[in-house]
Amino acid sequence: MFKKVLSALLAVMMVVSVMAVGVASAGAAVSDNFTPEANKLYFDVEGTGWEMGAKDKIGFYMVGGDFDTEDNATKPLGWGAKKLLGKAVEGETGLFAIEPGALTDANGKNYVLTEGVQYKIIFARSVSNSWVNQTCPLYFTTDCLGHVAYSDGTEMENDVDSTKKSKTVYWSGIDPKENGPALVITSIGNVVGSCVEQGKTTYDLFETFISEEKDDFKGKTGLQNARYYTVEQAKTKTEQQMIDDIGTALGLTKDDVQKAFTDTAVETAWKYEDSTIVGPAPHEHTPGDPVAIEEGRVPATCEEAGSHVEVTYCTECGEEISRETVTDNALGHINPLLFVEEVPATATVDGVMAHYECTRCNKKFSDAQGQVEVTDADLVIKATHEQGDADASGAVDTTDVTVIQRVLAEIEVQSYDEVGADADGDEIVDIIDASLIQRVDAGMTDFAAWNAKHPNKWSAE
Ligand SMILES: [Zn+2]
Ligand SMILES: [Zn+2]
Repeated sequence: MFKKVLSALLAVMMVVSVMAVGVASAGAAVSDNFTPEANKLYFDVEGTGWEMGAKDKIGFYMVGGDFDTEDNATKPLGWGAKKLLGKAVEGETGLFAIEPGALTDANGKNYVLTEGVQYKIIFARSVSNSWVNQTCPLYFTTDCLGHVAYSDGTEMENDVDSTKKSKTVYWSGIDPKENGPALVITSIGNVVGSCVEQGKTTYDLFETFISEEKDDFKGKTGLQNARYYTVEQAKTKTEQQMIDDIGTALGLTKDDVQKAFTDTAVETAWKYEDSTIVGPAPHEHTPGDPVAIEEGRVPATCEEAGSHVEVTYCTECGEEISRETVTDNALGHINPLLFVEEVPATATVDGVMAHYECTRCNKKFSDAQGQVEVTDADLVIKATHEQGDADASGAVDTTDVTVIQRVLAEIEVQSYDEVGADADGDEIVDIIDASLIQRVDAGMTDFAAWNAKHPNKWSAE
């Protein structure tokens, strides 16, 4: 049984690998043992349909990027330069190669390609050193070294001369959106190609088309040139139709087109309100992982749950898709609770009972588990305060009388206990408290005792 499954699997794998070979070699006359060199650019003539004579060659015309700038002094050779003719790879059909780094430029220096910089290449068929057929401009970077450019047989309008058609070319194994046929608006206002120049957008392309004066068009802008040929001469489209078609092909919206005309202050017969541009279909958002934000956060406490807001953004366009409030559970008190030892009361100062405390919220508990919460008032150990003991000495005597007298005279007394000094408990310390202490001290606590000591003062009869 197991063996049967295994062989079925093997059969599937066989089919897949055969298909993979088929895809890789489609349109490219590359034999199985062809090993590209990582410093060369290759061109496969096969798909172009060009009738190659035995002595015909392929020109590799490279321009753009940082050539002839401060960053890169390479001065590229002109169209038709003999030095740009690629050599056919030995033993291969229709495969021409060039090693840019080994080529000498117009200054006699070697070509330098800067890594990451995008250049343009056009392949041309050369008959007796004169270049006759050409491909569309194909973007390339050093990533395309070791890859084969090939034509799928389709044709594209030449961006400068609409009467010419160029073969569309691609790189094998390279994303045509990254390095592919240059996306351009042609001299008569058509949009061809698929690859937007590195670092640019289709909006940039449109803005350049309507505002940049070009030598190819004798100092006119692309728009002026296209208007002349298409709107005024051929009359195949109105300016409204032409701009709408360009906008649609570039995936722009009416607002993009309006903005480009406003920003460049270029005059046009195109009207926003008459535009038929629908704009690109809204894409389906791809939600990313929810992200917690600070706005609207209610922090959880030991006992109360909190909440925060989580926002989901689209991973492609960054737009907010949804937001929701997420509950944060109460944190619970810090475990273990902090044990606070008893502070005993003195005669004059209250003490505090031993207890437990949460170091986060400072709540106090009588038990280590934090089950019974207590207040500061619950934990008070009362000071002893003996009645009449104004100096907290532990005895009621004449010294206490002196202490009260001094206090009433506003003389500072170190050991004064205001509660003890209030001998009659009326919450006022006055001379009556001193008198009361004297009387108690003298055993004169009622009239009978007084009369017994002073019989002549008061007569009961
Ligand atoms: Zn989105
Ligand atoms: Zn707490």
